[in-house]
Amino acid sequence: MDSSLIGKIQKARQYAQEPERVTIEQLRARFAGNHGTYLVCYEGGRWACECHYFGTHGLCSHVMALERLLAPMLKPVELQGGESTSGDKA
Ligand SMILES: [Zn+2]
Repeated sequence: MDSSLIGKIQKARQYAQEPERVTIEQLRARFAGNHGTYLVCYEGGRWACECHYFGTHGLCSHVMALERLLAPMLKPVELQGGESTSGDKA
């Protein structure tokens, strides 16, 4: 293998440990929930989900789950929903 590629792989491993280096600007994901599969989008700091609950509440479990998964890579201002800090084990 090319020695320069080996260096790139090592760097990639290091970068992968530092997700804060990455800022997600746009995302489109298919979320398999318990009651159906929904398209979830993120763009310009705003979430959107096609599930019914999001339509009526502006927030849903799919969006909140993705926020948790991607938290280090989302802009800090988007994480204001501080109601989820309790160790919820419901
Ligand atoms: Zn949803």
